[in-house]
Amino acid sequence: MDESDADRASAERLDRDDPLAWCAERFAVPDEIYLDGNSLGPLSADAERALDDTVDEWRELGIRGWTDADPPWFRYGERLGDRLAPLVGARESEVVVANSTTVNIHTLIGTFLDGLDGSSKILVNELDFPTDHYAIRAQFRQRGLDPDEHLVVVESDDGRTIDEERVVRAMDDHDVGILFMPSVLYRSGQLLDIEYLTRAAHERDVLAGFDLAHSIGVVPHELSNHDVDFAVWCSYKYLNAGPGAIAGLYVNEEHFGATPALAGWWGHEKETQFEMNPQFTPAADTGAYQIGTIPILSAAPLDGALDLIEEVGIDAIREKSLALSSYLVALVDERLDDSFECSVGTPRDPNRRGGHVATEHPEAERIAQALTEDGVVVDFRPPNVVRLCPSPLYTGYADVWDAVERWREILDSGAHERFDADRSGVT
Ligand SMILES: *Cc1c(COP(=O)(O)O)cnc(C)c1O
Repeated sequence: MDESDADRASAERLDRDDPLAWCAERFAVPDEIYLDGNSLGPLSADAERALDDTVDEWRELGIRGWTDADPPWFRYGERLGDRLAPLVGARESEVVVANSTTVNIHTLIGTFLDGLDGSSKILVNELDFPTDHYAIRAQFRQRGLDPDEHLVVVESDDGRTIDEERVVRAMDDHDVGILFMPSVLYRSGQLLDIEYLTRAAHERDVLAGFDLAHSIGVVPHELSNHDVDFAVWCSYKYLNAGPGAIAGLYVNEEHFGATPALAGWWGHEKETQFEMNPQFTPAADTGAYQIGTIPILSAAPLDGALDLIEEVGIDAIREKSLALSSYLVALVDERLDDSFECSVGTPRDPNRRGGHVATEHPEAERIAQALTEDGVVVDFRPPNVVRLCPSPLYTGYADVWDAVERWREILDSGAHERFDADRSGVT
């Protein structure tokens, strides 16, 4: 940005010209600057209405809600899958909502391992969100395979990013059967090239799966077009579906008919599910990966939250997200520069960036605490990252400006120094 743009009036001007500024009114963001939507998105009026309506239906219909609610609860997982399909660029039958992300990793990794020769290795990276590795290791153990031998971990050159070329070389160097990578790294915010990695995997006869937890709802995807084999994601980050909301998964139609590793009656062919046959006949599509009864109260807010996302469209969401994160990167460079020892750990190329920005500082943990106490809700990721997520549906340019200014004031006054850096808890 020009030096002259680095003031609050310019930020206000950007807000006035923002075609998505009206969306913020649909959210109940507390009276603070909420930059933690990549951990837990806030409540929207739409999500709350859908949840309230569902509670009313439970009260009024009882068991009949499975068939008579609007929409009926029985096919709620499939219905939400249909609504999510455009967000991930998939055919409707390839997407369903079910379970949690971790459970979906268990069932899909287990299923695809079973379909291979049984001794396949899985390629991941050292900057992954830990639950992904926990689940994959457990799936190896259940098949009598040593996880240390079968989990191949690509290392990072700089502790922030993963070089895609290195991923490809690792597929050449090891007998890999499945590539499983995040779309966006949870700490640095690097966006990996799903199309490129999938093509490279397929050229080597490797299956390609992705964890979209940090991109769904803020980055468009084309899973079917890019021939991705499978994917998982959660709904409580950029989809704003609420704490512990139901997760989602995608399986390419080419793999329909596999036997789910974690089977349950909710994944049964719907038409005959209530015949209660002891023989499991999985649904013909991705619905087969549902396990138990859908938690309707954790799914209803997603049905509401999707209204706004559909109305705005994922391309407009991505456009504003990149404008906001570019603005934030420029402000960190200009206002929190060398004298404050802050630096941007997220790739500067917008095509390699998800929705959040990692700002690094040796005192990151205390700064995150001081900011949050000061009404700028952020989170800390060890060892030295403050994550700032200007989620586009409810964050404005002036919010970003104010957050950076408060950060400056904190460092200027030393306000962070009174916080204990060894706190533990949920952030
Ligand atoms: C948030 C997140 C998860 C969360 O998994 P849950 O089962 O919902 O707890 C998993 N993987 C990644 C990459 C995440 O960012």
